[in-house]
Amino acid sequence: MFGLIGHSISFEDARRKACELGYDHIAEGDLDVWCSAPPQLVEHVEIESPTGKVIEGAYIDSCFVPEMLGRFKTARRKVLNAMELAQKKGINITALGGFTSIIFENFNLLQHQHVRNTTLEWDRFTTGNTHTAWVIARQVEINAPLVGIDLKKARVAVVGATGDIGSAVCRWLANRTGVGELLLVARQQQPLVDLRKELQGGRILALEEAVSEADVVVWVASMPKTLEIEPSNLRNPCLMVDGGYPKNLDSKFTGSGVHVLKGGIVEFFKDIGWSMMELAEMEKPRREMFACFAEAMLLEFENCHTNFSWGRNNITLEKMDFIGNASVKHGFTTFNLKNQIQAAFA
Ligand code: NDP
Repeated sequence: MFGLIGHSISFEDARRKACELGYDHIAEGDLDVWCSAPPQLVEHVEIESPTGKVIEGAYIDSCFVPEMLGRFKTARRKVLNAMELAQKKGINITALGGFTSIIFENFNLLQHQHVRNTTLEWDRFTTGNTHTAWVIARQVEINAPLVGIDLKKARVAVVGATGDIGSAVCRWLANRTGVGELLLVARQQQPLVDLRKELQGGRILALEEAVSEADVVVWVASMPKTLEIEPSNLRNPCLMVDGGYPKNLDSKFTGSGVHVLKGGIVEFFKDIGWSMMELAEMEKPRREMFACFAEAMLLEFENCHTNFSWGRNNITLEKMDFIGNASVKHGFTTFNLKNQIQAAFA
């Protein structure tokens, strides 16, 4: 059995969903009430691969909402309680979705293996970052040519290059795709220098310079809402792959020749009988999902019950090959510009 741990995109949205599900006592509560609400296993689902293999899964809402990010202890408790529930339900492999994997890593939850009388078994959990990185790299390869960009000559900026997902995307683009030039962006210099050494190439640039030079920009950092980029400084054409969470770049970059694509999203080949992706505001919530969630399904399909994506900067090309092949085999395709155009006119 696979599991997905997620959360609503806002407090308002969480209240609306709780009301629909009949949890009126929680729905009416204020943020303090929500801070003490336990995680809920809200949905069971069955999924069949094109190979004929059928797997079962469950969606656990952590009852975390982004408005709690400033409450360190609450955020930590929400993630650990949801993980405890997944383990107690006997789920073999569970993906930490949305902010939950970021909270796990940034708040160093590895130090908190004991939750009440449960010892968390880490090999039951995955961040899903290997699949996310593979999907974003493939989205660059598939969509750049669609807007007239020749990747062999293109400059590709990766904003968040030293992160877990960003470094894996850089490894792929440098070694597999062979892009013209990689532009590496992050705030801290030493990890950038180390990455450039590992890649044996790439140019370290400040955000504004990289964005104005790049034919393709991969965003794999949670950027501040206040980020301002002057559209006239962008190249035409320019492909922006919005791999961060939340996905809010389409409102920032408008203008002719700028194509903003939702990054790290996959589509399953047929409808899934769940409603959980409505929470994440997917355009086709019966088929589309975050690639990190799909990783838990792929690991279950492949009987690979291990913390496949774990820690920071451990994603190898071999792991990306494994999860990428499984993704294709089990009926997932990457979300591409043409899906976005179809959705806009639907
Ligand atoms: P990490 O914390 O490992 O990496 C974040 C990277 O962003 C680092 O390189 C960091 O370097 C850089 N960074 C952070 N803030 C800034 C800034 N203001 N300007 C420039 N660089 C910055 O995160 P992950 O790789 O795990 O995740 C990256 C993003 O992907 C997150 O937003 C996450 O939510 C999203 N994600 C999306 C998924 C999906 O859509 N399917 C699934 C999983 C994650 P430094 O600190 O030196 O600046």
